[in-house]
Amino acid sequence: MRSNEWLEQRFQLVLRRHFYDVNLVNPVDVSYGIRARRRLGSIALVDGRSIIRVNRLLAEDTVPTFVVDATIGHEMAHYTHGFGSTLPRKYRHAHRGAVVDTEMDNRGMHDIRLQANAWVKESWGTFYIDECGDLSAKKQRRDSLRKLCWERWLAQCDRRSIEEIEERQAVIMRQLKSTTAPAYRIDWLVAGPRHTALSYFYDSEGVLRFHGLLADRRISDSVVDFEVAYWQVRQVVGADWSRIRTFMLHHGLESTLVEAIAWRQRVWNVFRKRNVDEVFQIAEQC
Ligand SMILES: [Zn+2]
Repeated sequence: MRSNEWLEQRFQLVLRRHFYDVNLVNPVDVSYGIRARRRLGSIALVDGRSIIRVNRLLAEDTVPTFVVDATIGHEMAHYTHGFGSTLPRKYRHAHRGAVVDTEMDNRGMHDIRLQANAWVKESWGTFYIDECGDLSAKKQRRDSLRKLCWERWLAQCDRRSIEEIEERQAVIMRQLKSTTAPAYRIDWLVAGPRHTALSYFYDSEGVLRFHGLLADRRISDSVVDFEVAYWQVRQVVGADWSRIRTFMLHHGLESTLVEAIAWRQRVWNVFRKRNVDEVFQIAEQC
């Protein structure tokens, strides 16, 4: 296991070799952060100090040193561009136009960068599972508990069912005079706190998933109808909202559209936060 001192030494080495000309206008702290699934490092300006965090998994000896160096180099490239530092900002976007890669390459980190990319691509997945089996197991437990909660909640009496939504879909299809059969099936979403939309389209699976709370009859039919119509029309005219809207208005869905959008803007957020908690509390009591 690599210590904080080891990381600090590595940082100093990368500075000397590749960033010797950069004026460190504000102090830089380097330390290990959390064990993350994807992100290897980050840089942020906090109270005039640049805080570089390196994924704690890189403290494992099995991770090649060049991955650590490349991570430090990446964050220092941000520093030189004025992201996470007090240097003047050189670009509008931190990553756009591969400015970080170019900066690293110009500083003699080309090979290190490519080696690191290749290792991450090849080995990170299995390495992560080996190291973080406990995290994965925890996530699996959480997901299955979440699923159970929703099943219980959806099974309560007088919930809307998928069959009902499919019936609404048939009605809406006729109204839209749509002959394009839906290229997807409808199912419930096992929603967590981060699911803020009413419906999600899973292209690769061919599934349209509705937020489970749409089974609550306090939410009017027009909201459900709108979601159904939206995805159907989108399949016909493409993703551009103004075209979808025009198409819906043209087919007599104006009141549905107006009502649904107004509800989503005014009520949905509050409704969701309040009721998602209830969904999960139910299971905790059981
Ligand atoms: Zn970055």
